[in-house]
Amino acid sequence: MRKLNTKWMHPRDQIIMIIDKIYKGGLTTTSGGNISVIDDDGDVWVTPSAIDKGTLRASDIICVRKDGSIEGRHKPSSEYPFHIAIYNCRPEIKAVIHAHPPALVSFSIVRKIPDTNVLPQAKNVCGPIGYAPYALPGSNDLGDVIAEEFKKGVNAVIMENHGTVVGGSDLSDTYQRFETMEFCARTLINGSTIGNPNYLTDEQIEQFENQIPRLLPEMKDVSYPSDEREIREQIRKIVHRACDQGLMISSYGTVSVRWKGDDFLITPTNVARWDIQLKDIVQIKDGKREPGKIPSRSTWLHQEIYRRNPHVNSIILTQTPYLMAYSVTGEKIDVRTIPESWIFLQDIPNMPFGSHFAGEEAILETISDNTPAVIINNDSVLVTGDKLLGTFDRLEVAEFSAKSLTMGASLGKLIPINDEQVEDLRKKFLT
Ligand SMILES: [Zn+2]
Repeated sequence: MRKLNTKWMHPRDQIIMIIDKIYKGGLTTTSGGNISVIDDDGDVWVTPSAIDKGTLRASDIICVRKDGSIEGRHKPSSEYPFHIAIYNCRPEIKAVIHAHPPALVSFSIVRKIPDTNVLPQAKNVCGPIGYAPYALPGSNDLGDVIAEEFKKGVNAVIMENHGTVVGGSDLSDTYQRFETMEFCARTLINGSTIGNPNYLTDEQIEQFENQIPRLLPEMKDVSYPSDEREIREQIRKIVHRACDQGLMISSYGTVSVRWKGDDFLITPTNVARWDIQLKDIVQIKDGKREPGKIPSRSTWLHQEIYRRNPHVNSIILTQTPYLMAYSVTGEKIDVRTIPESWIFLQDIPNMPFGSHFAGEEAILETISDNTPAVIINNDSVLVTGDKLLGTFDRLEVAEFSAKSLTMGASLGKLIPINDEQVEDLRKKFLT
């Protein structure tokens, strides 16, 4: 798959790549939503009006020239006036996404703004969120109320009884903000279904940002034997699959696989997860990192898990919409739902926020043969296993269980399988 390059790729091609992700990710309907990019000449490239988002091609993208003239085979999106209004008041914004993603629309129709203090990276990626009062779609009034919010310096706005509009330094940055904000909204809704979300203080979030990553020293000579390259391909495939399946978002998620001894390969920091390529993955050998690359912030934790647990050969640290309901509420997930869940997961304890920071022991003391996964409050879920596909399957089972429990919450109380039934499972499958 081609990498999104916002510096060299034509705006038309960037837009096609991102609209496809947004549509497949269930973040827009065929007719709703629009994307634009402003280039260095001040020309704005924007999606057309009333053309199927599922089959859009580069040749369908419209150009609104700096002088206001319009070029293209179709009419530009009827919402393009508010895109122009944003570019006019905030010259550093270079891409805009507008859509009606379901969870953010939920907030917009109850007239609330999602509180991103629930997850550190949501707060940092989204920044402060504005709120624009209702105005007629396509009208100059709508452009005015949105521009008023962007003038305050925000990069994301909830549109009353409508949806959301998000800006950024380029289309990758904008998409990441859009996706993260919708994810945060879904997490809050799912969390509220099973309990009450807990919010972090600004100080706790700062603490997360300021934790000094213990950056490993760089190795001098690097070699890439075939078995090392094979692991790169495994990691790339599983990260893309996780993104496609809604088990990882652009702004958060780490995958690592043990190579030999305590050496391993791990995903980098600051690369949009859905866009990770073979060369982005970082080799960690003899406690040193591949030169010129910054591995995930959680590298220390992965390293220690491999060092202390010879049976663990792969680790996934991620955020998924239903497991995060348990993470942000601190509610304990009961995996005695169906036999598959208990056999795969046995028990998933909640760990306090901060227990994943470098130097902390709590998670390391908890992960074992019988406890392959933990939920980190207000942060993520960590799953370990032998082969990477098996670890991914374990993550899927955990997320499905969390989804069933969340959806079941409105039907009645969970009646778990009983101790005797659990004992039978243990005898048949785990001994
Ligand atoms: Zn709209």
